[in-house]
Amino acid sequence: MAAPLIGVLAVQGDVREHVSALTELGAAVTLVRRPEEVEQIEGLVIPGGESTVMDKLVRAFGLRDLLRARLAAGMPAFGSCAGMIMLADRIADAPQGQQTLGGLDLTVRRNAFGRQVDSFETDLDFAGLDAPVHAVFIRAPWVETLGPDVEVLARVGHAGAEGAPAGRIVAVRQGTITATSFHPEVGRDRRIHAEFVETVRRHHR
Ligand code: GLN
Repeated sequence: MAAPLIGVLAVQGDVREHVSALTELGAAVTLVRRPEEVEQIEGLVIPGGESTVMDKLVRAFGLRDLLRARLAAGMPAFGSCAGMIMLADRIADAPQGQQTLGGLDLTVRRNAFGRQVDSFETDLDFAGLDAPVHAVFIRAPWVETLGPDVEVLARVGHAGAEGAPAGRIVAVRQGTITATSFHPEVGRDRRIHAEFVETVRRHHR
């Protein structure tokens, strides 16, 4: 059977990095910019970027309702950073009118780490992976409150490490939807993308 097609939402953000990560893993990948493309995919990646812009473009391109419907119907998805915001059911610190696609029963706080720690890198323990993940955070959100079906995959570690408040939730999974506050598409570590590709394959069978 042919590899299931994974779409990378390509209206804004670090699309190319996700496409390379998935391609390296042998996944079949396509860009998603048009309604027809939403129908063709078996899994969706939402890149890092700027969620306010992504939201506007997703609506302008007529993708919002289709994507929401596919996600609500159980299509696997992975979002990094702005992608996590797009997959959250609720947002804190959003400009009035910002909408998301939803799928994750949680509240995400935009730009949560604050201005003085705009960007930072740290090693994180990640559920299901035996060695820590080197995580790059860029104006990252964190997960503030979560529903009972959301599993925490990673939290920022020690108090004050690289200025990051201890214990904040930065990676989650609910069913076949996974999201990280950081950018696994940056760097060489492909374990998080590999897990996602496997999720899409299992779901497709
Ligand atoms: N702060 C951005 C937003 O709100 C996310 C940043 C990122 O994706 N690196 O969308």
